[in-house]
Amino acid sequence: MSTESSTSAGKALDSRSALTPATVASGATGAHDVDASECRSTRAAMHDYLNRRLQPRRQRRFEAHMDGCVECIRAFIHIRELSWKRRAADQPPRG
Ligand SMILES: [Zn+2]
Repeated sequence: MSTESSTSAGKALDSRSALTPATVASGATGAHDVDASECRSTRAAMHDYLNRRLQPRRQRRFEAHMDGCVECIRAFIHIRELSWKRRAADQPPRG
């Protein structure tokens, strides 16, 4: 058996500053112009939309926002899945 001396090398710290003003400015904001307040009101209206309680004008605005906002689409799919599961649980098994 040979005794190996384990060297703990390779822990050299890079002393370069990662956050220069240029990198922050280029990568901080997203490219899409989705309004955050619009997201909030859209998500608040999702249950009403599923129950078809939205007024036509409100519904059109809802769908227009969903067209361009991935986050709200995801949230909507999540809510739909929950309602489907609940509906499936409510129905008695056939047979
Ligand atoms: Zn949104």
